Amino acid sequence: MERAEEEERGMVIIILGAPGAGKGTQAERLVKEYGLRHLSTGDLLRAAVADGSQLGKLAQSYMNSGGLVPDDVILGVIRDYLEQNKGGGILFDGFPRTAVQADGLARLLKGNSATAVMLAVPDQLVIDRLSARRVCRSCGRVYNPALGIMPPGGRCECGGDGELYQRDDDRPETIRRRLEVFHSQTEPVLEYYRRQGTLREVDGVGAPDEVFARVKKALV
Ligand code: AMP
Repeated sequence: MERAEEEERGMVIIILGAPGAGKGTQAERLVKEYGLRHLSTGDLLRAAVADGSQLGKLAQSYMNSGGLVPDDVILGVIRDYLEQNKGGGILFDGFPRTAVQADGLARLLKGNSATAVMLAVPDQLVIDRLSARRVCRSCGRVYNPALGIMPPGGRCECGGDGELYQRDDDRPETIRRRLEVFHSQTEPVLEYYRRQGTLREVDGVGAPDEVFARVKKALV
């Protein structure tokens, strides 16, 4: 029998929410719980900037200003990733960020459906969380005293130099701009999945474990 055009994927989850809504924290837990691959476009772009690759050079100015990297660039990155990582479940974190990206993803998934989980958090809480967020310069792990997550002694224990820094785009003016971008460009993505009946809205306020319990319940 001929091989079907469709390519079998396991569970596909999209985690949506404003910057600072807790997507990365919940994504880590989801990946462990369901054995998924984790694709964070933000992490991927930051790694490209750190490497000084062509993608990094292109993305850096958009990222520093709090704007979005162009859709065709992002969709190219996702297409390459899916080609190199065939089969298996996957969790998208920070993608899709626009309706065009959501449409592009549906095409790239070739008939596999995706469930979108939206973490709802009020803007003021996002501002408080992002201003407090710190990242390990060696391993990229995220800490946040606003969520009660800080390493003992204030240094990461990953074995690198342990220094924690504030992302350039976690400064107040950029946070405001990122929130505006979320409301204007990413809310249509929620609408996209709502129309398809695959959107699960979850209250993102609370300790990470509490929120995770809600996320799991929403996925049943
Ligand atoms: P994040 O870590 O998800 O908050 O992403 C950090 C920055 O990377 C964003 O403010 C954007 O500039 C860029 N970025 C990440 N993911 C996307 C995406 N799916 N589309 C466009 N830009 C993105």
